[in-house]
Amino acid sequence: MVIVQKFGGTSVGDLDRIQNVANRVAKTVKEGHQVVVVVSAMSGETNKLVGYAEHFSANPQREEVDMLLSSGERVTAALLSIALNEMGFDATSMTGRRAGIVTDAVHTKARIERIDPMPMTEALAEGRIIVVAGFQGVNEAGQVTTLGRGGSDLSAVAIAGAIGADLCEIYTDVDGIYTTDPRIEPSAKKLDKISYDEMLELASLGAKVLQNRSVELAKKLNVNLVTRSSFSDAEGTLITKEENIMEKPLVSGIALDRNQARVALDGVVNRPGIASDIFGALAKNNVNIDMIIQTSGHDGSTSMDFTVPQNEINDAKKVVEEFLANKEVTDATYDEGICKVSIVGVGMKSHTGVAAKAFATMAAENINIQMISTSEIKVSMVIDDKYAELAVRSLHNAYELDK
Ligand code: ASP
Ligand code: MG
Repeated sequence: MVIVQKFGGTSVGDLDRIQNVANRVAKTVKEGHQVVVVVSAMSGETNKLVGYAEHFSANPQREEVDMLLSSGERVTAALLSIALNEMGFDATSMTGRRAGIVTDAVHTKARIERIDPMPMTEALAEGRIIVVAGFQGVNEAGQVTTLGRGGSDLSAVAIAGAIGADLCEIYTDVDGIYTTDPRIEPSAKKLDKISYDEMLELASLGAKVLQNRSVELAKKLNVNLVTRSSFSDAEGTLITKEENIMEKPLVSGIALDRNQARVALDGVVNRPGIASDIFGALAKNNVNIDMIIQTSGHDGSTSMDFTVPQNEINDAKKVVEEFLANKEVTDATYDEGICKVSIVGVGMKSHTGVAAKAFATMAAENINIQMISTSEIKVSMVIDDKYAELAVRSLHNAYELDK
């Protein structure tokens, strides 16, 4: 098989750990696989470099920031290659440029536009191990760019897609994706497999493991992703397309999002275009809206309740003020003490009663559900934040996720 193995900052955090990574890569190669390794900078290194730049300027040139930050990954790539050569392997390190990664020109937040796989496929054919510096590419003008913080996952997924790898393994200090946060429910189980769409919905469970952008890219390029720990031999979680998952569980996991706030507008003037005006203004101010409930009152006005990320509540307030001022809304209340609990599973598509069970579970615990939203593979409920953990635990139990 052709395997891309990506190691994050903690996995290459010091020289001993880089040696561990070398051993793991060596083992994979000895099993007969062709390996492209993608590395992050040693943990803390990128932040240190950011600090260096800020020592001289509060607003450093983005081109220079990219030049600077991209060096962290080059250090690890070179060291890992040296370690592998010392062990008798033929390894070669590559910068983003040498690996053929071309991005747009948006410095510090570049997007990969294309990858010329030739330099990598040729080196693989010659039996070499390739170690690519993650998080970076070059723009058309040949300047170094970086992909945004945490971007070496993206490098790995894009490379796996470009060379047609069978597998893209993302190594971190967590051994996979769990049915829920084990700190809340200790009986949470590691999932063997999960679909891309479920993973995207369970973002809060994978947040420390994988960027959503990487999962989206893996889905688009049809890359089989595995997240696993570089500190153990435990098998990780495979994130793949739904067709590859034979036994579809009704519910795969329970996600909790505490960064939620609720805005309730009353006495909203009932005229065509009002929703467009309110939500258009919120969008223009970069407020992300999640759930929306509109109900019509008897006096001809309507109520609109919606949720926003808690850290965007002040921006939302500013927008709402304008509608209060021009009297298109009579009253607004804000509640930051809420959270969103979601049950996610592809099996819901073909089964009934999954949502009803979630509601019954909340009822049995006497937890009031303030808002509900559903999609094909998800049921989300907004509840009082003080019940967050209880809700997660009872749902986990109700769907027997510990079994
Ligand atoms: N070193 C970069 C960062 O810390 C990229 C990465 O680790 O993925 O953001
Ligand atoms: Mg990372």
